[in-house]
Amino acid sequence: MEPKLLTSAESLAKLGELQQELNRLQRKVRIAIQTQLASITGHSLGDLSQNRELIASIHEVLESHGLRIQCVECGHPAILRVSPRPGSPNGVFVFDHTLDGRRTFHGGGSAVPPIKLVAKPPRKKHRRVAG
Ligand SMILES: [Zn+2]
Repeated sequence: MEPKLLTSAESLAKLGELQQELNRLQRKVRIAIQTQLASITGHSLGDLSQNRELIASIHEVLESHGLRIQCVECGHPAILRVSPRPGSPNGVFVFDHTLDGRRTFHGGGSAVPPIKLVAKPPRKKHRRVAG
């Protein structure tokens, strides 16, 4: 059988529809993950290694969907981490991100902060040499 002809305008329109559909699905996925994570906001597992495991599993899910957590202080996309701190043996939850080319940590509460998901920013090209 002869293949049916498809104009390039038609194929572009179809790809456009597909992109819209994917965007809708991605938004649904993001909201579903965010809703689940909202239930652990304000909690702590009460143990440094368990808190770290929890955050690592969350990161895995986010990574596979191209998502990051929005920093509550500056709004930049960040990776949530648990760091030990003097006086906080179970660790504190920090937002790890790069601001003005420098690795920066924000937050630092002893419970899981409010989690708002954002798209992972595209990878930076080679950094330009200043001056
Ligand atoms: Zn921040």
